[in-house]
Amino acid sequence: MKSLESEFMNIDGIYFGTSGVPDNYFKTKYKKDRKNIVDWLHDLNLNAYEHLYTYGVRGSEEKNEYIKRKVNEYNIMLSLHSPYYIVLTSDKKETIENSQKELLKTLDSAKYFNCKRIVLHPGFTNNKDALKSFIKNLKETIAIHEYAKYIVPETMGKKSQLGSLDDIIEICRETGIKPCIDFGHLHARDQGCLNNENDFKNIIEKLENSLGKASIKNLHCHFYPVAYTDKGEKVHRAAMEEDAFPKFIHFAPIIKEFNLEPVLISESHNSQDIGALQMKDILSKL
Ligand SMILES: [Zn+2]
Repeated sequence: MKSLESEFMNIDGIYFGTSGVPDNYFKTKYKKDRKNIVDWLHDLNLNAYEHLYTYGVRGSEEKNEYIKRKVNEYNIMLSLHSPYYIVLTSDKKETIENSQKELLKTLDSAKYFNCKRIVLHPGFTNNKDALKSFIKNLKETIAIHEYAKYIVPETMGKKSQLGSLDDIIEICRETGIKPCIDFGHLHARDQGCLNNENDFKNIIEKLENSLGKASIKNLHCHFYPVAYTDKGEKVHRAAMEEDAFPKFIHFAPIIKEFNLEPVLISESHNSQDIGALQMKDILSKL
C-alpha cells in the first residue's frame, strides 16, 4: 500500500520528549495541574510529548484547547497512546466491537489535535490467529477513519503479547502503516538482546530491508532501560541507573549512520524528562 507513504507526516530533525507527565513536573509551580506540560517541556528544550490515554480518552475541553494551541505555538511533536484495553486480536465479537469503539474515540481525538502518531498495543496472543485477526480488524478501522492510517503499532515486551519485531513488520507490510519501535520492550522480550551498536544496527537494517528507507526515516521510538524475566518485560528502570540496558549510547551512532530523524520518547521510570535530555545530550555530542 504505497499510497500511505506520502500521507504520513514527514518531519525535519530529531524530536525528544516524554511519555506522559514525569514526576519532576509536579514539583514545579504547576503542581497537580497537568495542563502546562507542554510549556514545561518547551522550557526544558524538549520538543515531543506522548499524551497517554492509558485508561481511556479523557481530558476537559479547556485543557485540550490549551494543549493544542501550545503544541502548535512551540512546534511540539504530539503523539497519542491508545488505551491499553483495546484488544483487536480477540476472537470474541463483543471485545472487538468495544475495542473498535475505543480506538475510534482515540482517532477522533487525534483528528482534533491533528496528531499523526497514534501508538497502539496489538494485544494478546490468546488465540492462534491473533496476528491475522489484528490485521483484519485494523484494516477495517483504516477503511472507516481517516486518521487510522497514522496508527503506529508498538513492539511489545511480553512473550504473551502480539508485538515481536516480526509481528510488527508483518502488520506494517500488510496495512501500509508505520511501526513504533519500543526498544525496551524488544530488549526484554528477547532476553537482553540489545547490548551494543551492532544489535541496534541489525534492527534498523531489518526494518529498512522489509519496510523501506522512507518508512523508517522518522521512526517513532520508545527508549528506556528495562528489567525482565524469562517471560519478558518486568519493569521500566530509571534513567539514572547506570547498570541498566538498553543504552542510548549504543543507538545514537546508528541514528547518525542511517541518517534517521526519529521521534525519541523516553519512558524511563519516573524520570522520562531526564531520559529525554540524556538522549539529546548524547546525540548532540556525536
Ligand atoms: Zn506502549
